[in-house]
Amino acid sequence: MRNPSSSQDTQSADPGSSQQALSANPSSAGARPATPSGQRQAAEVSAEQLAARVATTRQILLDAVDKHGNGQAGAAASLVMASSLGAEDMVLTDLVFRAGLPVDIFTLDTGRLHEQTLRVLARVRETYGRAIRVYFPEAAGVEALVASQGINGFYESVDARKACCRVRKVLPLQRALAGRLAWITGLRREQSPTRAELAAEAWDADHGLAKWSPLADWSEADVWAYLRNHKVPYNALHDQGFLSIGCAPCTRAVQPGEDARAGRWWWEHPETKECGLHVAGH
Ligand code: SF4
Repeated sequence: MRNPSSSQDTQSADPGSSQQALSANPSSAGARPATPSGQRQAAEVSAEQLAARVATTRQILLDAVDKHGNGQAGAAASLVMASSLGAEDMVLTDLVFRAGLPVDIFTLDTGRLHEQTLRVLARVRETYGRAIRVYFPEAAGVEALVASQGINGFYESVDARKACCRVRKVLPLQRALAGRLAWITGLRREQSPTRAELAAEAWDADHGLAKWSPLADWSEADVWAYLRNHKVPYNALHDQGFLSIGCAPCTRAVQPGEDARAGRWWWEHPETKECGLHVAGH
């Protein structure tokens, strides 16, 4: 299979980044998409509507703490939150850290993230005085993967892509969730067909613990209204047409009207576009 990055529109937020240069299409460098619609529509979310959303979400977080928390916010916490450092997760990070909730927030550094994504980690520490825990893939696993399929072998097939996601994301996630009672995610129903049945609270049979999605009902505009109103730090790539942000070689900006997940593994069919972290309906 040809390398999708050679012909697709994968705008780079930072032309100086060597990692992004791998996926940049020089012919489209001047054709960045408009700001995502959710950012433009944020101003249309009324204060009352946003306050109601926030109140509901705070209550869901408190319910999760009551039900699954053990009072610990560090590595020994029974309640954790997985953050991709994207817009939705920054809403939840702001709510959790400002309320001082006993939740251990973590992210997975796959080794293929954009520099802009990593910068969010530093800004979170500056803003809240609390750090997001970072899990990395096992070095031996990455070395074996690259030896087997090459540095960008994930473009060759869905199986090859899932093998890469397994080493770089799924196995680190399993380590992050080991011994925990519940995890919180920033998933929203409207993000993709695979998330249409998402519940605010569910049993995650794949990982063997409860899974909370306090933003299940939120729209993209709600998310941006919150980020703007509360001056929450966010990934600079969101201002360049990126909605759902994952690894640099597997994420591109989307055009107005495309759904949030259209920029992830854009060369695949929509039904295959989960990385193993989240299974449909959970
Ligand atoms: S998103 Fe792409 S680079 Fe990242 S782990 Fe999955 S296949 Fe690998």
